[in-house]
Amino acid sequence: MLHTKGYAAMSAGAALEPFSFNRRAVGPHDVLIQIQYCGICHSDIHQARDEWGGSFFPMVPGHEIVGTAIQIGGEVKKFKQGDRVGVGCFVDSCRRCGACQVGLEQYCEAGMILTYNGLDKQGAPTYGGYSKQIVVDENYLLRVPSSLSLEGTAPLLCAGITTYSPLKHWGVGKGHRLGVVGLGGLGHMAVKIGWALGAEVTVFSRSERKRQDAYRLGAVDFVSTEKDGALSEQSGKFDFVIDTVSASHDYNAYLDLLTRDGTMILVGAPSEPLPVAAFHLVLKRRRMVGSLIGGISETQEMLEFCAKHQIPSDVEVIPFQQVNEAYERILKGDVRFRFVIDVESLG
Ligand code: NAP
Ligand code: ZN
Ligand code: ZN
Repeated sequence: MLHTKGYAAMSAGAALEPFSFNRRAVGPHDVLIQIQYCGICHSDIHQARDEWGGSFFPMVPGHEIVGTAIQIGGEVKKFKQGDRVGVGCFVDSCRRCGACQVGLEQYCEAGMILTYNGLDKQGAPTYGGYSKQIVVDENYLLRVPSSLSLEGTAPLLCAGITTYSPLKHWGVGKGHRLGVVGLGGLGHMAVKIGWALGAEVTVFSRSERKRQDAYRLGAVDFVSTEKDGALSEQSGKFDFVIDTVSASHDYNAYLDLLTRDGTMILVGAPSEPLPVAAFHLVLKRRRMVGSLIGGISETQEMLEFCAKHQIPSDVEVIPFQQVNEAYERILKGDVRFRFVIDVESLG
């Protein structure tokens, strides 16, 4: 067993607090990582507050993890001591099902093993990246490109791959108009990646104060959704809309932005079911699809893509002691555009 420290929620909705716990000893296929930065995803808040149901406590959140490999198991082939590595939303899967065999481990038929708020193959709870160290099987580790900063890379492990995967899958690129709904952690990466893929990006946001940032990130237009009639003016103009909003809102209003045969991609995961009226789809043969993070090989591909286009995440680095305040600021949409915890601040 390996003793480590971190921050945990002891019960649903409790403030996060310092927490000591054990990790498994480094096995033959494992890598021990000294964590340097961990991003704060809105999914951490949903789960720490048990908004989706089924959360386990104590919970050490965090699935946007970067750090250095400090100990290597005897059979490890892909990594060596000193490598800069990343861990995303899952740390294992069955490795045998149809999804695992084609590199779509996030859709593992037996269920992927989540980095936190999950149970490992021995039935022990998993603990995430708001901590000093983590032990991960080499097959579920990513390599951080040398031209990206560690802190700017951390959010790519969830926000980056969650937006890259569907944009690639649906073939978004040159000649397409892409609407990005919500300019938070996922939204700002959707703008950067959409721009790098060659699409013409428009941001839809409640927050007029984010307009200049949207242009800087690569958008050609910014629509303030709080303004009366703002959405209907854009009706029928978009080939794709990617919806990253974390709370209840009207999907129908955003479906109307699509052209005939346009595609709305849901990645935001509000806890409430939200209604869709059939006519918003049937009248223009539109489709509404969902997407969940991305597999290991596609995550590595995304990291190389972000390095090539020099599009790390825009981050605000904070010490552990500010994590509860950061949660409140995220809920107000007050972050540019991802909080990343500097793990050294734990002391
Ligand atoms: P975030 O940083 O909080 O961004 C969400 C953005 O949505 C906010 O910045 C805000 O943008 C907008 N928003 C929030 N409340 C709203 C409301 N009531 N009405 C309209 N807009 C609202 O969150 P995130 O980390 O990007 O995560 C976004 C969602 O994706 C969460 O639900 C998260 O759990 C989910 N997620 C899904 C996956 C997946 O695999 N599918 C992976 C990671 C996260 P503006 O201020 O610009 O309006
Ligand atoms: Zn996430
Ligand atoms: Zn599987």
